[in-house]
Amino acid sequence: MSQNLNKNQLDKNLKLMILSATVLIVLFFYTIYKSSSHIQSSTYYFGIVFLIILFLCAIFARVYRDKLKAFIDKTRKNNGFETELAKEQEKPVSENEYMKKESTIDMVSSNVTFKDVAGISSVKEELEEVVDFLNSPKKYQKFDVKLPKGVLLVGPPGVGKTLIARAVAGEAQVPFFYQSGASFVQIYVGMGAKKVRELFEKAKATAPAIVFIDEIDAIGKQRTGTSNDERESTLNELLTQMDGFEGDSGIMVIAATNKLEVLDDALLRAGRFDRRVHLNLPNIEDRRKILDLYLQNVNFSFDIDKLAISLAGFSSAAIATLVNEAKLNMIKRDDATISEEDIEIAKIKLEFGKKENKILNDKQRDILAIYQASKAYITQQKTTLFQEGIKKDDTIYPSKTELLNQIKAYLAGFIGVEVVVHELYAVNSADLKEANALAKLLVEEYEMASNIKEVLENVKNELRKELSNNKEKIIELKNIMLDNEVIKEDDI
Ligand code: ADP
Repeated sequence: MSQNLNKNQLDKNLKLMILSATVLIVLFFYTIYKSSSHIQSSTYYFGIVFLIILFLCAIFARVYRDKLKAFIDKTRKNNGFETELAKEQEKPVSENEYMKKESTIDMVSSNVTFKDVAGISSVKEELEEVVDFLNSPKKYQKFDVKLPKGVLLVGPPGVGKTLIARAVAGEAQVPFFYQSGASFVQIYVGMGAKKVRELFEKAKATAPAIVFIDEIDAIGKQRTGTSNDERESTLNELLTQMDGFEGDSGIMVIAATNKLEVLDDALLRAGRFDRRVHLNLPNIEDRRKILDLYLQNVNFSFDIDKLAISLAGFSSAAIATLVNEAKLNMIKRDDATISEEDIEIAKIKLEFGKKENKILNDKQRDILAIYQASKAYITQQKTTLFQEGIKKDDTIYPSKTELLNQIKAYLAGFIGVEVVVHELYAVNSADLKEANALAKLLVEEYEMASNIKEVLENVKNELRKELSNNKEKIIELKNIMLDNEVIKEDDI
């Protein structure tokens, strides 16, 4: 379309040129004819010769306009970007085009190894087997051992799920295909599925390889039958693809999520993501190791152990960001040693930036430690400082006493704080909700008691008595929790 436009324009311009030259020549001849006796110099004759040349040029250009146009286009091509851009803009974007454009699956070779991952040693150990399998599959095939096709990394954001998956690829020296679950969510039905197919085709072509799907919950949510067609077709394709290759094909699918409970059961069935690895927020030891890693090439003048303690509740990624911010501040000060002040400034920046990075002060840590120590005492189970909920009782037919014991475990933290500091604190509303739900179940569903409030009040009174009688033990456990961030069964 634009080519025709250019041709017409050129034609129009040439015609104008011929017409103007003709008019001027006629005017000149008329002037010479009328005043030839007065013309002294040869200027007029030069003028007429120039006009005739112009006229001939215009006629020549008009006759050879196609060749002239080709020449102009060729010159323009030197200005490539402009033409390419124009061409791109002219293209209509149809569904088909869109489908073609979306093939953005690239593999990378990972240069991350286990050395770059600090702490989480139990996770590394679990994944070492995967690395070994990718490195020497024959060792396993000889005994007909099938390793899981998929490993699901479960944990909150920033605990190193992506990093560890990259490290597995780096250790095994195999290509790494990264895709986030959200990138499969597309506008047109079938496009997400196409992308899944493409991902597995590429991985198979370069096997052994690691396919990493971050935030798999974006496509792997439970299918309801009524919802999003596109997401369901994508999930179905993922299931088909995972069933479609053998365990010895050399493809290992690693996926990450922080919401295991929302995933479709089909994904968790044998032969798919049948291995699950849990990652938690780093404990005190891990935080120290992460700090060591990020501070290894820089001088610092603060107490690293104290800092590790104060960062309770921080994710590994947040610790990495904190050190980076502190380094930036050090550079700003034109210094080569990170000071305590740099760390404090970085903490403030992070705290304002993100809600979940709230730094607990001593009093808040104390309250949380009493809360968790009371829970540990009542449940007689290992408990960590930031652990949420309790280990659920999975009895199929729970007795009334077992249900009441569970309610007791959920309420233990609140009553423990009340007994030790003589004040009520809003620590964990999720525990209260669980206790209420269980009391409701006990009264309304199983009719084991007549009044929800009464059930809860009786449990609370029982707890008040038990915890007051063992206040010394609770305080002892609280101190263990403050020192180690964990109370083990032996401590209780
Ligand atoms: P997730 O996938 O769990 O959200 P990432 O793996 O993307 O977390 O972590 C983000 C960044 O945090 C990493 O690139 C790395 O810089 C840092 N990080 C996370 N975990 C660790 C760790 N265990 N050791 C060292 N750095 C870590």
